[in-house]
Amino acid sequence: MTDFTMKTDADGVAVITWDVPGKSMNVMSRESMLVLNDLIDAALADDAVKGIVITSGKKDFAGGMDLNTLATIRAEAGDEPAKALFDFTMAGHHMLRKIERAGMDDKNKGGKPIAAALPGTALGIGLELPLACHRIFAADNPKAKIGLPEIMVGIFPGAGGTTRLVRKMGAMAASPLLLEGKLNDPKKAKAAGVVDEVVDDPVAAAKDWVLSEPKIVKPWDEKGYKMPGGAPYHPAGFMTFVGASAMVNGKTKGVYPAAKALLSAVYEGALVPFDTALKIEARWFTHVLMNPSSANMIRSLFINKEALEKGANRPDVPDQKVKKVGVLGAGMMGAGITLVSAMAGMEVVLLDQSAEAAEKGKAYTADYMDKGIARKKATEEKKAATLALITATDDYAALEGCDLIIEAVFEDMGVKAEVTKKVLEVVGDDCIFASNTSTLPITELAKASDTPEQFIGIHFFSPVEKMMLVEIIKGRETGDRAVAKALDYVRQIRKTPIVVNDERFFYANRCIIPYINEGIRMVKEGVAPALIENAAKLVGMPLGPLQLTDETSIDLGVKIAKATKAAMGDAYPNEEVDEVLFWMADEGRLGRKSNAGFYAYDEKGKRQGLWEGLGEKYAQASEQPDLTEVQHRLLFAQVLEAVRALEEGVLEDIREGDVGAILGWGFAPWSGGPFGWLDMLGAAYAAERCDQLAETHGERFACPALLREMAEKGQSFYGRFGTGTDSKAA
Ligand code: NAD
Repeated sequence: MTDFTMKTDADGVAVITWDVPGKSMNVMSRESMLVLNDLIDAALADDAVKGIVITSGKKDFAGGMDLNTLATIRAEAGDEPAKALFDFTMAGHHMLRKIERAGMDDKNKGGKPIAAALPGTALGIGLELPLACHRIFAADNPKAKIGLPEIMVGIFPGAGGTTRLVRKMGAMAASPLLLEGKLNDPKKAKAAGVVDEVVDDPVAAAKDWVLSEPKIVKPWDEKGYKMPGGAPYHPAGFMTFVGASAMVNGKTKGVYPAAKALLSAVYEGALVPFDTALKIEARWFTHVLMNPSSANMIRSLFINKEALEKGANRPDVPDQKVKKVGVLGAGMMGAGITLVSAMAGMEVVLLDQSAEAAEKGKAYTADYMDKGIARKKATEEKKAATLALITATDDYAALEGCDLIIEAVFEDMGVKAEVTKKVLEVVGDDCIFASNTSTLPITELAKASDTPEQFIGIHFFSPVEKMMLVEIIKGRETGDRAVAKALDYVRQIRKTPIVVNDERFFYANRCIIPYINEGIRMVKEGVAPALIENAAKLVGMPLGPLQLTDETSIDLGVKIAKATKAAMGDAYPNEEVDEVLFWMADEGRLGRKSNAGFYAYDEKGKRQGLWEGLGEKYAQASEQPDLTEVQHRLLFAQVLEAVRALEEGVLEDIREGDVGAILGWGFAPWSGGPFGWLDMLGAAYAAERCDQLAETHGERFACPALLREMAEKGQSFYGRFGTGTDSKAA
């Protein structure tokens, strides 16, 4: 069995079918490219073949390149990884160019028509291959997604997609597809000019077309070709390119190498003939692949994210798929958990103190579906079917038959213990009980149950339907079946899990709180608030620490600070932070929800800029720190906490530490996560920086023993703790 097979019918159409054995979605590997290359050679050489149709044996066309391939090529190339990657990329260009030229001579005579027939989704090289064909037929399948999402994992379309799309539709029209990785359904892809036809039976339509003796020369292979919208030195093109450069830098803050390299490939490619443009694209593509940021992004956002979703750390326990889930508490979190569970097809019992409160929680799903209907993403039938799965109630008896309970009542040990006991009287012996607590120890909460091995933490982030990470917390006595149940549930709702051990604030909150505190501490020291916020954004954090505090609310910060201080006693290190935080709370500035916080807001709640009163209370120092110093304080505050979590065994797998950081709190995605970033710095430099920061700013930056040891031994995190391809990618 090979990934591509070919069959020529009586009319002389060779149909090449892509069907990777044992996979539900086609992905391109090194080996499959060679097979396709040979089949194209054979079809072009065979006089009996009049035309070629490339299609898929699966419901979709292809999901893209197997990114493990790139990591493997890089790792196997010894001293010359750039050469190996460039050669591989150029080999891909030669094959696709062969398809595009299809045997035509220099005068564009001869050649065989080649059409792509896409039954469904076509992404990445799964679209770049069709773009090299002479016509693209897509099935009228509204679920199909067509596009080039490479930029989302830190690379850009490097199999001719960049060069062909820009030449096909112009730089301006291609930019959302290339720079944002925008995906379209087939009809929108046709309207955008990416595919040529949307039909019921793409293979039949493609066969008819190749037999119709169509013109197959691509516009850019004809004399006098002009790029739509103008090349860079054309007045209109000039405007596009100047604007694009500013826009890309504004959006990426210059920290994502792929976006910049993509623009360079487009700009430089537009000035030269097509084949040279492909070579330029390959050079920039190699440049990006060689950048540690891209390698780290591929590793965390693609390879390891997928491995975790597929259960890399799942105990070997039989399938624990959830059928009926009980959600306790119909507040903000309970309502969201109900929504995602019902959307995944589970029966949900949503319980609150009163039937009205429970109904209000259920209404959240109805509202969500209504918005989906308005945007044509959902239907009335889907809404009715989803709502029919949800029972809103105040009656514990309705929980009978639930195989998983997720508790999201008030953050109070007593309240949680009481509902746990009530639930356990109703549900069966094998039901797993999970708490969504943010701050209470799972091991303590489990004491309310006489089966603590069936008790676990399933910690969602807000808003539940948007945030992709779910943190699973093992209490001291949590058993394997509970872990497997939680992982299988997270898989059902299509989110990404990490599994951590039970220590204060678990993993994500443990790392994000020091980031917020460091920002607030700097305000107290007289660092300009704008410098703090901009330094964070310029290093790739989605929100500055002050804005983040406004979003999560200042009174929540006060509550957490008080609880932490009560637990830590004299060892509590954040008095300076609290001074600012408590003062803000006393001033009634509770953050976005009160329309007043570190930022000012207008009456509609729109953020206006940093609040001037902050500068009046905490005068800005005449001498300001440099940008890197501020950035290092903000990043080291987080990553040192991640290292401590690893040292203490809260984290068992650095992959979870990196993936969890990016998906959980948006830790500078370009870095691949805290451990990826430390590996980029190198342990020796990181340890040295810790020493300097600790001396200037305090013991919270003291170098953890693990990092010190790694510095002495010349180790990296992925070298020491990585597994398989994930360490090779670094
Ligand atoms: P919330 O106040 O919006 O909702 C709590 C709900 O629980 C309310 O509807 C309340 O009526 C109900 N409730 C309280 N006591 C109950 C009882 N005895 N029986 C039944 N229902 C009861 O709170 P929330 O923000 O949804 O948080 C819920 C839990 O999720 C907390 O443990 C919190 O720490 C955790 N959490 C919150 C967030 C967040 O961002 N808000 C994020 C992660 C986890």
